[in-house]
Amino acid sequence: MGTAHKAWAAVHELHVYKQVEQLVADSRWVEAQPTGLVHALCNCGYSSGWIPDEELPSRSELVAAHGVPFGSILATGEKLGDTTGG
Ligand SMILES: [Zn+2]
Repeated sequence: MGTAHKAWAAVHELHVYKQVEQLVADSRWVEAQPTGLVHALCNCGYSSGWIPDEELPSRSELVAAHGVPFGSILATGEKLGDTTGG
């Protein structure tokens, strides 16, 4: 059964991970710092892999393709809601 036509579409849910490394030290203090590598991963199947931050597509490109990133860490210091179109 089931003659109904179902339309399935990829769901975008973009996550951008920033890799951090942790200082291995015999100490109670845990130090972590960003390695400069980022990984953009979307539910639709897109994955940038671990790449240097500067190689990541611009936020506007990512938003255009996948919507606003989940948890939007890229939003820091960036203009939100800027809809100026060329
Ligand atoms: Zn996507």
